[in-house]
Parts: sequence; C-alpha cells; structure tokens
Amino acid sequence: MGGNILLSILCSVGIIEVLVNIRIVRGFSMKVRIEDTCTACGLCVDTCPDVFEMADDIAQVIVDEVPEGLEDDVRQAAEECPSESIIVE
Ligand code: SF4
Repeated sequence: MGGNILLSILCSVGIIEVLVNIRIVRGFSMKVRIEDTCTACGLCVDTCPDVFEMADDIAQVIVDEVPEGLEDDVRQAAEECPSESIIVE
C-alpha cells in the first residue's frame, strides 16, 4: 500500500515535470492588455501595429497572444506608453 502511494506520488511528479518541460520547450507565451486609462495617443500602434490597433477612443490588442518575435516591441510599447496603460502578462 505504501508502495502504491509512493508510485502515485512519483507519477504525479513525473506528469508535472513533463508539463513543465513542454512549457519550457514551447516557450512562455506573452499576453498583453490595455487598461481603460489609455489616452489614445497611438504610440503603441506606431511601435507594434501587428499587436495594437486604434479602436474608437482607445487602443486595443488584436491578438490573443503576442506573436513570437514581437515581444520586445510590445515591451517597448509598454515602457513608452505615457499613461502606463499597457499591461504585459
Ligand atoms: S501608447 Fe498607451 S496611451 Fe497611447 S494609445 Fe497606446 S495604450 Fe493608449
């Protein structure tokens, strides 16, 4: 019985390890969102038009996840946003 519990724990750890490794191999996906403090200056759209777009009176994110290779542009947009409305997750 103790062996079964030990085996069960080891299997659980193994599964977690596999899941972690898959995430490491695939890389961490970046998500970004814009808070309603956006002043619609358009700077983020200029910096990264593949991720940001102007809606009526606020910028919006047009992707579910930041495409590979655009992470630095999104970070730059977040750093330069005058109202600090871009939240990188
Ligand atoms: S840079 Fe900031 S304030 Fe300007 S449009 Fe983008 S989210 Fe809005």
